[in-house]
Amino acid sequence: MDQKKLSTINITKVYRRLVIDHCYLCHAKSDTTLCAFCEAGFAVNQFACLLCKRPTYSELQFICGQCQAMPPPYDVCIAPLRFESLTKSLIHSIKFHQQADYIRPLIELLSRKLIEHYQHIEDWPTQLIFVPSHPKRIKERGFCQTQLMASELYKILRQKLGNRTPSFVKQSVIKKTINTQAQHTLSRKQRLENHKGVYQVEGIMDSHIALFDDVMTSGNTLETCTKQLKKAGATQVDIWVIARTPDKTG
Ligand SMILES: [Zn+2]
Ligand SMILES: [Zn+2]
Repeated sequence: MDQKKLSTINITKVYRRLVIDHCYLCHAKSDTTLCAFCEAGFAVNQFACLLCKRPTYSELQFICGQCQAMPPPYDVCIAPLRFESLTKSLIHSIKFHQQADYIRPLIELLSRKLIEHYQHIEDWPTQLIFVPSHPKRIKERGFCQTQLMASELYKILRQKLGNRTPSFVKQSVIKKTINTQAQHTLSRKQRLENHKGVYQVEGIMDSHIALFDDVMTSGNTLETCTKQLKKAGATQVDIWVIARTPDKTG
């Protein structure tokens, strides 16, 4: 790509980030990150298990069978969207086509849900940690999408909460140590096996942690990381994800 064209693209991107006067998705005039039309395109995770936020199609509030059999190790789970339709294609574009501009609207929706949840209880976690990708995948793609997303979340929360914002460092205290086969190609039993010993916690941390990941599918990754964080001294772990995948049978 020629330099002139590249710099024009960069200037446009920087301008859009500094001044919100366009919708981040359709670029229509809007003084918010998302115009009303685009916002209506997201599948909201309105009905879900009270503990693990597994989407349901019943309006009744309940705890799902898996959580009844074995409650999850984390203390809170926030997952405002369902991993389908628009959310799915945006996250796919961020991961595989480096469309970093799509991070902002997704994180904006998550931050609104977080504020809705914590505004009454006022018990914000004091440290934000993210689940990192494997170093090999980061090398292939040139970036770690969960790190970029968590940085954006920190920035947005800082603007809204000031000094109540959980602390954040770009280097996660969680390290992924063994390369794993893509989760969706494995059975549930294989996935559980696949996670043994994969994540390690290194470094000092607070006792009340917010653990961020982009998508929660089976929940195995977040459960494994929660257990590791608690083993390392955390007393409360709140899960913050953008979206939760609905069960295939849902
Ligand atoms: Zn729009
Ligand atoms: Zn559940």
